[in-house]
Amino acid sequence: MKRKWWLLGGCLVLIALLGGGFVWSQSRPNTVSRPARHNRVQTQDAESTEVKVVKAKPWIKLKQPLKLPILMYHSISSGNQLRVPKKQFASEMAYLKQHHYRTLTTTEAIRALTTNTVPQKKVVWITLDDAYKDNLTNGLPALQKYNLHATINVITGFTHKHNHLSLAEMKRMKATGHVDFASHTVQHLNLDELSATQQKQELVNSKKWLDTHLAQHTRMLCYPAGRANATTHRLAKQSGYTLALTTQEGMATLKQGRYNLSRLRVTPGMSTATFASLITVTNR
Ligand SMILES: [Zn+2]
Repeated sequence: MKRKWWLLGGCLVLIALLGGGFVWSQSRPNTVSRPARHNRVQTQDAESTEVKVVKAKPWIKLKQPLKLPILMYHSISSGNQLRVPKKQFASEMAYLKQHHYRTLTTTEAIRALTTNTVPQKKVVWITLDDAYKDNLTNGLPALQKYNLHATINVITGFTHKHNHLSLAEMKRMKATGHVDFASHTVQHLNLDELSATQQKQELVNSKKWLDTHLAQHTRMLCYPAGRANATTHRLAKQSGYTLALTTQEGMATLKQGRYNLSRLRVTPGMSTATFASLITVTNR
C-alpha cells in the first residue's frame, strides 16, 4: 500500500517536473529570445534616442511670420540670363557655408513655413528648376564640398533628353543626401493656359512619376515659368502638394499663400555682395 503511494507520489512529482519542464521549454525561447529582443529594443532605443536627438532638437518659434529666402537657379553653366556659371555657383555655396547658413530640405522648408519655426536663424532654400544635367556635373560638387542641400524641380517628361537628368542620375544624386526632387510638371507648359483637366494631369502625373521612381511622397510643386491661376492653386492642393513655388521676386512668406510662394532669382554675373544682400533677412 505504502509502495503504491510512493509510486503515485513519484508519478506526480515526475508529471510536475515534466510539466514544469514543458512550461520551461515553452517559455525558454522567450527567455532566450527576450534578452535578444531586449537588446534589440535597447539598440532601437539607442537609435531612436539618436533620432529623437535630431528630431527633438528644438526649432526656434518665430514671433513674426517667417521670411524665407528661396533661391532660384536653373542651369549651372553659362550662355544666357538663366544660366549661372559653375564658378559663380561654387562661390555662392562657399558664401553660404562660410556664413553658417542652413540649407533646408523640402521637408524642412515645409516645416519651417507651416509651423513658423526655423532650425536656426540663418536659413535658405536652394532650388534649381528644370533638372539640367549640369546640376549633377557642375552643381553637385559644390553642394558636396560645402555640405549643403538643394532641391531640383523636375520636368518628368524631359528625363530622357540628353541635357536633362536621367532617372539613374537623379537616383545617384538623391543617394548623396545633398539633393531632393520636386515636381516641375510633366511637359513644362504654362499651367494658366491649360484647361483644369490638363492642369490636373500635369500635376498628378508628374507627382506619380516622382513618387514611383524615386520612392518618395512628393509634396512640392514649382510652376513652369511661374505661371498659375486660382484653379492651379486649388488643383495643387487637391493633387497632394503642400507648397508651390512661383517666379515672383521676393522672400517667401506664408501670407503669399502656400501655393504662391516667391523666390529670389540668382542671375549670372551677380556679385557676392549682391548675393549676400539678396538673402539677408532678419527673422524674429
Ligand atoms: Zn522651368
